[in-house]
Parts: sequence; structure tokens; C-alpha cells
Amino acid sequence: MDNIIELKNVSYEYSNADEEDIAYTAVSNLSLNIERGSFTVILGHNGSGKSTLAKMLNGLYKPTKGDVLVDGINTKTEETEIEVKRKVGMVFQNPDNQLISSIVEEDVAFGPENLGLDPKEIRKRVDESLKAVGMYEFKNSTPHHLSGGQKQRIAIAGMIALRPDCLILDEPTAMLDPKGRAEIVDTVMKLNKEKGITVVLITHYMEEAENADRVIVMNDGVIIADGTPKEIFKNVEMLKDVGLDVPQTTELLYALNKNGMAVPTNVLSVEETAQVIANYLEEK
Ligand code: ADP
Ligand code: MG
Repeated sequence: MDNIIELKNVSYEYSNADEEDIAYTAVSNLSLNIERGSFTVILGHNGSGKSTLAKMLNGLYKPTKGDVLVDGINTKTEETEIEVKRKVGMVFQNPDNQLISSIVEEDVAFGPENLGLDPKEIRKRVDESLKAVGMYEFKNSTPHHLSGGQKQRIAIAGMIALRPDCLILDEPTAMLDPKGRAEIVDTVMKLNKEKGITVVLITHYMEEAENADRVIVMNDGVIIADGTPKEIFKNVEMLKDVGLDVPQTTELLYALNKNGMAVPTNVLSVEETAQVIANYLEEK
């Protein structure tokens, strides 16, 4: 298997600067491989260690124990730090903290300019990146006039312009309305399918996990479940135990079963759900 990221027995401890002996283990002895070209969603309630893990995936945080390899490069190696950051781009929750210029295209050009690329190449990358996120016609706009979803797409374009192998998105939809959320999920899905960019999406919204290749559930700094969306969401009790919701379709099928209607629970989309209920009623 071709892995873009490998974590081997990784732990991360936050140390309190004043009291050196007090450390908090946010990620604990975690091993994980992310396959190149895959779409992974990470779920977990607040404080489960998702953001700490995310920051270790592109070398922003170095593990206090264990190793993180990005395309075979250990993130602890200082000489290759820039290379690792270029291979794995990060998108955060608040788009306003990620946009710096007053013109959209200047913002997207910022990364490539820092790489010292020539102006023709920068122009090409800016245009390509804005097209890839569906924001090309806004290239001369002012970011603060745009919606949250549009701003977040500009932040993604800024990362794409560096031609990363992998994008890590840490709750990129948390501050967006449903329309903005759908824009981001569609954009990221397209970048994965059409450009082959590996995606790791951290989210609170269960419906964003439905089309992922893989869903990972974190709790207290460890992975407690790892599988396809259907495998994960059928464990309704387990998800509720760790403070997570399940998709509404799963909730419905689960409630029907509890009420004596033995419909299959291993489906997710509204269409499939309607189909299994229709089948059940027909067989009755
Ligand atoms: P999540 O993203 O899942 O909400 P985080 O990775 O942000 O989780 O946090 C995991 C745990 O680490 C939490 O208990 C949090 O309080 C703690 N933590 C996060 N950042 C710091 C920090 N800078 N200093 C000390 N503890 C921290
Ligand atoms: Mg977080």
C-alpha cells in the first residue's frame, strides 16, 4: 500500500510552562497510515485530540514520542521541514484568520511567491487553483465581501497553489452555514476525485463523512473506530457513548428497529434508506 502519511506509536504531550512536571497527553501512542489518494474523515467530540493530531500530520507539531513520516520523510528532520509543509497543506476553522491580502488573487499568490517561483508560473497556479475551487470569477474581489464558504474556498485555493499531495482540513465548515458547508465538502471531494489530492477532513457534521473512503473516530487521544462510513455509522450506541451524533438516516433506521421494524441499518443515503423501508413494507 502506498501511504502518504505514516504515524508510528505517536504521542503528544502539552507541557505547562510554569509547572514542568504537569503534562497533558492529548494524543496517546497512536499508529495510523493514510493511503495516497484517499479521503479520510476524522470524527470526535471536543478535546478528543483531533487538532493536535492534525498539526502533527504536517509537521507543525513534532510528536513527543514516536514518528510521523510524510512521503517517507520524518517530520522531526529540520532540513526537510519546508518540504513537508509543502506536501501537506492545512486549512483551519476560521477563514478570516487565513486570508491576508485585500485581493483574492494576491492571497492565493502568497504561497507560490514565498516559494520564489517565477511570475508566469505563479499566474498559472493562481488561475488553476481558483478554478479548482470554483472561485475564478472572484479573483479581483475583496475577501471580506465574500461569504464564509467562499472565503474558505479561497483559503483552500491558497493551499492548492503549493501543489500539495495532501490537504488536512480541521473543522473547515464549523463556522459556515449549510450552504457554505456543502460548498466546501463538494470542493474538497472534487479535489480528491479529479486531482488525486489526499484529503483528511476533521468535522463535527456526520453527513460530511458519508462519502468518505474511511472514517476514523477519536476519543481521549486514541482511535476507537476505523472503517468505512457504513461500518462506523451502524454502531449507533458506540457513537452516542462518545458524544457523537449519527446521520439522521441512521437515527431513523435505528429507531425503527427499536420499535420492532427489522430494517437493515447498513445504508446511509436518503435514497437507500427509502429503499430499505419500502422493501420491508413490501415483504410484510
Ligand atoms: P480537539 O481538536 O479534538 O477538540 P485538541 O487536539 O484541540 O482536541 O485538544 C486535545 C486536548 O489537549 C484537550 O484536552 C485540550 O484541552 C488539550 N490542549 C489543546 N491545546 C493545548 C495547549 N496548548 N496546552 C495544553 N493543553 C492543550
Ligand atoms: Mg479541534
